[in-house]
Amino acid sequence: MHPKKHLQFNALRQSLSEHFLAINDLRQQSKLDHQLHDCLMSGFAMMFFQDPSLLEFQRRLEEQSQFSNLSSVFQVKSVPKDSQLRETLDYVDSQHLFPIFSDWLHRLQRGKHLAQYKFLGRYYLVPIDGSQYFTSTKIHCPGCLHTTSKKSTRYYHQILQAVIVHPDMRQVLPLAPEPVQNTDGTKKQDCEINAGKRLVGSIRRRHPKLPIIITGDSLYSKQPFINAVKQARMSYILVAKPNDHKQLFQRVLEMDAIGDGGNLELTDDKGRIHRYRWVNQVPLNGSKDADDVNFFQYELIPKDKVTYQNSWVTDIAIDEHNIVDLVKGGRARWKIENETFNTLKNQGYHIEHNFGHGHRHLSMNFFILNLLAFFMHEIFQLTDRLYQACRRKTSARKEYFALLRRTFQILLFRSWQHMLQCIHAPPELYAP
Ligand SMILES: [Zn+2]
Repeated sequence: MHPKKHLQFNALRQSLSEHFLAINDLRQQSKLDHQLHDCLMSGFAMMFFQDPSLLEFQRRLEEQSQFSNLSSVFQVKSVPKDSQLRETLDYVDSQHLFPIFSDWLHRLQRGKHLAQYKFLGRYYLVPIDGSQYFTSTKIHCPGCLHTTSKKSTRYYHQILQAVIVHPDMRQVLPLAPEPVQNTDGTKKQDCEINAGKRLVGSIRRRHPKLPIIITGDSLYSKQPFINAVKQARMSYILVAKPNDHKQLFQRVLEMDAIGDGGNLELTDDKGRIHRYRWVNQVPLNGSKDADDVNFFQYELIPKDKVTYQNSWVTDIAIDEHNIVDLVKGGRARWKIENETFNTLKNQGYHIEHNFGHGHRHLSMNFFILNLLAFFMHEIFQLTDRLYQACRRKTSARKEYFALLRRTFQILLFRSWQHMLQCIHAPPELYAP
């Protein structure tokens, strides 16, 4: 499988350039040694190679000649110094970078790669979850969230992330994140649930026709959030816990007792029992404007011991034909915790590393460039056979990127493709 042209490294790199060049730089041009494009692209290159340190990244680049890989592979004309790079990334409003996520998703759609993510025949599963990417007790900005204890105040930055997942697909496709951040002039702090309402609205604006099921943890199975999801013309599968939904669980018991519910029990090859139970059209809570929702529950039982159980509410009518898939969809939410945040935090992307906070947009822009690098790697894992062959040369993801970094540092390449070819089949440099 060769990647289609519009999904190859050069095309994606070109699309980054176009988005970066479209940003209006209102600063005094005479004072700028480096164009905004080169700063953003250098920041992206650092994340692309998962460099843990900006200074190290730059030191290595300076060791290369003027015909550096940064120029041949990433089209950076002049390599910015550390302070200039930070200053520029602090200046650029993160909003300018968000359209890149939809651009790349459309490319996957055009290349027919999105079809394999279809769930229940037509939907796309979109779990949402919050994560923190900066924290400090000293450095802060007006956008920082904060918690105060007796000893100190802790400042932090958080985003709410949405990704497209499928229960059977390893790769996740990130959508543009929603910052959870304070704005000037408001006393009340921003929170994840408000960010969630904004996020579903912006996903709908960016993807007007995509059939979407939002999945979320028990924080989200509340009427105001469900209203926002409905307004955005989306469906939902949201975790509902007995402690948060006493009346709902009581009503489910009553309806089940009079035979208004359904159930299914399956035994798999390993002898484990999968127990499903559902009730359609039950009020979410006791208030009179509460929606009727459809409730389902799942237990996994190996040898008389329940190892996993969970329960959800959804707007999709449940029957014995879709219950197994609905549970898979609800459980696929872990992919945003494991395959996304865990990878970003512990598999080399250093997402919690403090690359710099700045005064305005620096820490957020570092986060976004990191997320875009992750997205590009996921696209190659889906579409690019040469990339996958190189990846298979090392077992761990971190090791692979260390190999890419070393190669990028030691040898000069005409292009990204050239570099991958050399890794895949190294030329015999020392042949007599
Ligand atoms: Zn801040």
